[in-house]
Parts: sequence; C-alpha cells; structure tokens
Amino acid sequence: MRGPPMTAARRFAISRPMKITKITDIVVPISSSIRNAFIDFSTMTASVVAIETDVIREGKPVTGFGFNSNGRYAPQGLLRERFIPRLKAAKDLEDARGFIDPAKAWAAMMQNEKPGGHGERSVAVGVLDMALWDAVAKAEGVPLWKLLADRYNGGKADETAWVYAAGGYYYPGEELKSLSDEMKRYLDLGYSTVKMKIGGVPLREDVARIETALKVVGGDGQKLCVDVNGRFDLQTALDYARAIAPLSLRWYEEPVDPLDYLLHAALASEYAGPIATGENLFSMQDARNLIRHGSLRADRDILQMDPALSYGLVEYLRTLAMLKQHGWSPRRCVPHGGHQFALNIATGLGLGGNESYPQVFAPFGGFADDTPVKDSRVKMPEIPGIGFEAKNALYAVMKPMMGA
Ligand code: MG
Repeated sequence: MRGPPMTAARRFAISRPMKITKITDIVVPISSSIRNAFIDFSTMTASVVAIETDVIREGKPVTGFGFNSNGRYAPQGLLRERFIPRLKAAKDLEDARGFIDPAKAWAAMMQNEKPGGHGERSVAVGVLDMALWDAVAKAEGVPLWKLLADRYNGGKADETAWVYAAGGYYYPGEELKSLSDEMKRYLDLGYSTVKMKIGGVPLREDVARIETALKVVGGDGQKLCVDVNGRFDLQTALDYARAIAPLSLRWYEEPVDPLDYLLHAALASEYAGPIATGENLFSMQDARNLIRHGSLRADRDILQMDPALSYGLVEYLRTLAMLKQHGWSPRRCVPHGGHQFALNIATGLGLGGNESYPQVFAPFGGFADDTPVKDSRVKMPEIPGIGFEAKNALYAVMKPMMGA
C-alpha cells in the first residue's frame, strides 16, 4: 500500500519568510438532525478560519482554511480574544526554508496558557493549526499527506486510507427497518465497515438493532463497530460486553466516561475484544494518561484522538511520539471526526484509517467529491493543501472568506 517517495524537485521554494497577512473567522451551523446516546447535534456550530499569507500561487495569496470537527461548538470567543491576536502578533514563525513552522505558531498561540485543564482552548488552537498546515502545504505546492510523508514518514505515504461509515442512529418508531436502510446506503456508497450507536435504549432492544445491522453488513462481526458515546457505568458496560462478546465485533467504542481510566482498565480486564476510545481526549497528556492508566492493549485497541479538537497536528505529532515510546503503532490510531485533515494525516503518517460521516455533519463530513470510497478505502486527491477545494459544498463556505 505504499506510494513512491516524493522528490524535492516538484516543490516550490520561497525567497523570503512566509508571513500571515490576515486571519478571518466565521461561525456556521453543522447541519445534522441526528442525536447519539448523549447529545443532540441540531444546535451544534463550527468555527471556520481563513489564514491569508503573502505567498502568491496562481496569482492569488495562499490562504489556509481550518474548522473544528463535530462534537464541540464553535470556539469563537477563544479564537477572537486569545488565539487569533497572539498568532497575528507573533514574529519569526518561519522554518529553515522560509515557510511558516506550525510548531512555532503553536508555541506563540499557547503563550500565557497554564498546563493542564485543556478545556476547549484545544479546539480553538486546532482550528488555527489546521489552517496553518493547509497554507504551508499550498505554499509548497503539495498535498498535505505528501508533505507529512516526506517530513515525518521517510517519504512513504499509503496509497489509500481505510475509512468506515459512522452512523447507525436511533429511529424512534421505525427502528429496525430504518437502521437497516441506513446501513444499506453505506454499503452502496462503497463502505464495507460501518459503526452504529448503542446505549440509547435497553440492552435487549440494542441487541436486536445490532443483529439487524449485522445481517446487512454480513461477515463475521468484523464489519460492524458499536459506539456508546461514553455513557455506561461499569455494570452496564459489562452487561453489554457479555452480550456482544460472542459477535466478535470490530470494536466497542467509548463504553465508559472517556476520562475514567480505571474504569477502562476494569472493562479491559473482562472484555477480550477491541475497545476504541480517545475522541474526547484533547491533549498529548490526556492521551498519555489513558495509555499509562487505562490498561488498553497495544495489539488490538483503537485510539481515536481527533487532531482538529485536540490542539491540531503539532500536538498530534507529540501524541504519536508518546505512543511510540509506549509501544503503540500509529496503525492503532483511527481519528474521530470524518474530516479531510485527519484523512491526510492517516495517509501521510500511516495511521490505521479514519472515521467518515457520509451525508451527515454537512458540509464538513465526507471527503473530496471525486474520490469515491471503494471497499472502505479512499484515495487522496493530488491537489495542494488539505484538499478542501476538491469538495464543493465545503469550499462554498470557505471561498467567500478569501479577501473578505
Ligand atoms: Mg464516537
């Protein structure tokens, strides 16, 4: 699955240090009427930022875009009061070749921030970090996945990334038929692995839903994941674990509170199948606590930290380094969020794959328009940056921010 190494010859160089000229932010609704076991998404918002630079490509200033992925609200106050002003005021952000160094930008944004208690500042920094990487890759003239493979993975990018369709929502009143129809739609779109919500109804009803979904996706259980969104206590998590253990499901996601590491350890001692978690851990330190104290198993469990929610890729690189020190392969990482940023990271850094939300969380869910999913794998577009320009509905939100 490895592509050819990139040569430096295709790259643009720049003659003077790349500078930020303007930063714009807006708040947009995430269109989704769905709810999971814990929250209703109909009032959810996202921040979108545009970072314009003084580098010119194709006659226009290179502009990087970023947004926060679903599950957290637009952090506009944090962006406007702290992180955008600090980034604008920062000097000497360039790397040895003159491009903006996102790690230097990160340090500038995080000045006067105390350690710990990460809260949602990690979301605000993540939005800006995404836009910076998009801008740097565009300035270099390469897709972000290639830039990452070259800088951090010996030039080796995966040819395609594994993706699975996250959904499997509740349909009060017409439960099994609607669930079955939803799963069929994902198979028609090219996904072979799907995920469904559980924990919103009594165990017996969820088991009927799981059996319905299994009938649609077929196989031995490896094509179905279940997601609790962190709501079970230990007893309920164990009751469900016993009920699903014979089904050999692909994974059992966020069965308990994401910050209760001892509870994870207790469950991992009882449930032999893969456990997935991490989408609500927002820093390297939080992920490290999970690894140190959650007794998760590096040979099977799945880590879902979402770079867009957790201080961006600069922090995610620290998380990957921490995981390596603890004997975890990047292949165990399958980020939450279903966005193109994490898909670039998965392809360029050799992660296990990426979540996907076909048809929900519009326009942020889903990938480039002309890269169809085949057998739950997706190929990356070759365009410079993260690839937002290849996704029309999303780019329609971003484009008016250029020159605004
Ligand atoms: Mg989840």
